[in-house]
Amino acid sequence: MPKPHDLPALLADIHREASDLFGQGRVASYIPALAEVNPHQFGIAIATIDGQTHSVGDAHTPFSLQSITKLFTFVLALKLEGDALWQRVGREPSGAAFNSIVQLETENGVPRNPFINAGALVITDILTTRYAHLDYALLGALRRLADEPGLHWNPRVARSERDTAHRNMAMAYFMKSHGNFRNEPEAVLDNYCRQCATEMSCAQLAQATLFLANNGRDLSRSGQPDEQFLGPDETRRVNALLLTCGAYDAAGDFAYRIGLPVKTGVGGGIVAVVPEVGTVAVWAPELDAKGNSVLGAFALERLVAATGWGHTSF
Ligand code: GLN
Repeated sequence: MPKPHDLPALLADIHREASDLFGQGRVASYIPALAEVNPHQFGIAIATIDGQTHSVGDAHTPFSLQSITKLFTFVLALKLEGDALWQRVGREPSGAAFNSIVQLETENGVPRNPFINAGALVITDILTTRYAHLDYALLGALRRLADEPGLHWNPRVARSERDTAHRNMAMAYFMKSHGNFRNEPEAVLDNYCRQCATEMSCAQLAQATLFLANNGRDLSRSGQPDEQFLGPDETRRVNALLLTCGAYDAAGDFAYRIGLPVKTGVGGGIVAVVPEVGTVAVWAPELDAKGNSVLGAFALERLVAATGWGHTSF
């Protein structure tokens, strides 16, 4: 690990270099509210398990987490269901776009993994059965993990996604026809769109995911007791799934370039876990063709090259 005092200078360098890439990607527009975001924003935040935090650029600006929430809903479902979860969703990379429908038909309505849309919809279905108010349950967990009581979901973004969620709705009905959906698709889609509209800054996201770098133990900054949020074995498994499935059909490319468990979202955020070290959250809204942040991926690639993070973890 580089000396703590080197990290701010490194982040400043990476931020400057990455800024040359503005204009190479495109902001997501299939959810109309996301298209209104100023594309020229870019933040990086690091949180380490020994209590350091470093940030640069727009690291304190809240953004739409979108698919990054799939990581948190998956963890909640795993805590509740344990291995029974795997009867309803797989754990293989899909090699297909995050919103692809094609595999669902040949694979009898069982999605490949919990991080593509179909798999995340099954997870949200599971949580819809468990919680009368899933949005409160999820926000409660996130507020505690991030030590941020003010976290919320954006009703305008949720509405915008809900009004245009035809493809996700089609997948939900298809899975229902295969008996892999317990609740009404409309109710699950309401929850799913609220979940995706959750907003956090890079600094908050790095803090909220720190338990994944710390064998499942959440380190509180606000005076609350630390909590074993997830068991060490489950944490290792979540990280394995993030490495293999966290970047949709670019998971192999991300593993090659970055080599860390990651979760990406079409809001332009990416969070990366460096086991036993800390977490890195990056955000820049312009996306590549696979729906991943152009500047974000570049920044993570540069960071691991400079620090050696991840080279000894796997
Ligand atoms: N809410 C988005 C969707 O369902 C999330 C996709 C993403 O971030 N990749 O399409």
